[in-house]
Amino acid sequence: MKPVSLEQEINPWEAQSARFDVAARKLNLDEGLVKVLRYPSRELIVHIPVSMDNGNIEVFTGFRVQHSIARGPAKGGVRYGPDVTLDEVRALAAWMTWKCAVVNIPFGGAKGGIICDPHHMSPGELERMTRRYTAELIEFIGPEKDVPAPDMNTNEQTMAWMMDTYSMHMRQTVTAVVTGKPINIGGSRGRREATGRGIMITCDEAIKKFGLRPENTRVIVQGFGNVGSNAALLMHQAGYKIIGIIEVDGALFNKNGIDLTALWKHREQNRSITGFAGADKADPAELMLTECEILVPAATENQITSRNAAKIKCRILAEGANGPTTAAADEILADNKVFVIPDILCNAGGVTTSYFEWVQDRQGYFWKEPVVNERLEDIMVSAFDDVVRYANTHNVNNRIAAYMLAIDRVAYTVRQRGIYA
Ligand code: NAD
Repeated sequence: MKPVSLEQEINPWEAQSARFDVAARKLNLDEGLVKVLRYPSRELIVHIPVSMDNGNIEVFTGFRVQHSIARGPAKGGVRYGPDVTLDEVRALAAWMTWKCAVVNIPFGGAKGGIICDPHHMSPGELERMTRRYTAELIEFIGPEKDVPAPDMNTNEQTMAWMMDTYSMHMRQTVTAVVTGKPINIGGSRGRREATGRGIMITCDEAIKKFGLRPENTRVIVQGFGNVGSNAALLMHQAGYKIIGIIEVDGALFNKNGIDLTALWKHREQNRSITGFAGADKADPAELMLTECEILVPAATENQITSRNAAKIKCRILAEGANGPTTAAADEILADNKVFVIPDILCNAGGVTTSYFEWVQDRQGYFWKEPVVNERLEDIMVSAFDDVVRYANTHNVNNRIAAYMLAIDRVAYTVRQRGIYA
């Protein structure tokens, strides 16, 4: 790989494109098809006027990128944050296309985001911004077009507002327009924990390859939001030894394993993991580099770069977040024989259960939680096997294998449909 500046290395679109280019080259795809797959189908920028609690009017910038609708409606989350950029949303949209193809569900890929500081906005301001954003997207989203879901700093409440706004415009309740909704308005049982559960399922498969059992597997999790906290809790309940948790405001370490049920309670009461009595305070950056069997980055992008990859001491890297590892870091991890469960496989449990939610909404018939979890496990285990088999057959690392498998599936559909006609 050509040397790149750090700025280029951590640009998510560059990170996505670097892997795409390698995988497409290895697949020997024809040049025209590569162009079709490389660029998003549609990018929408909206400016959202919101009346703030202090009486002022603020205008927020929002995005929705639909990377591909070849295999089905576009699907992807909406994130709120001060550092959201179009390049990031574009990369996340492409990752959704590949992710849905890796787990072989009938969706394309999309992503949305709004540049805002949600931690300094009131619930009323967030609601007005969400509703206006949804209204701006009315022609572009819908159960058969593009189905948003929660992502960083958005949640079930955000989805309830989006669903309600869309329904107001359609003059009827349309639950299937978004996923990740509260259960009483068309959400799926098991959706809240699904991304974390999917991470655990792929880890269960990976440790078998190392002859490990959960009891002798030490795990460090970065990010204690929806994805990280559910992954940590479920893995703790399954017997894994969670020795470290890393958050923005501090980190916790206990070499004997942290009681995650107690930590959840502590976080609920204190809105932070800090001050928890069942573990020692640790340095967040050092804890990322502490020896363990599994490291789960479940926070945000670019946590493992060319700067720190050589110092990572896990045997398995289970990517809960999207894009936590840069392309330059991939090579270092491969040299150090770290077994990477790439994001487009590892965190696909969320979109898989979103698919179940969409199916249930359209059927008007809701499944019991064990049914959801069993179907999720089937899909995640098959996808894990497909990726590892592909890696062995083509002598590539797991990430490139996942991209190749996904690109091959999308390319097949594009060719069959004649999308470029
Ligand atoms: P979230 O907002 O619920 O949680 C993110 C957590 O990470 C927060 O607690 C935040 O404080 C913490 N964090 C942020 N930066 C950090 C840093 N530098 N160090 C330590 N902690 C940090 O978001 P989420 O829904 O859990 O999403 C996390 C990641 O997983 C994102 O990359 C997201 O795109 C991805 N993802 C989410 C889902 C889903 O179902 N929610 C599905 C697939 C992938």
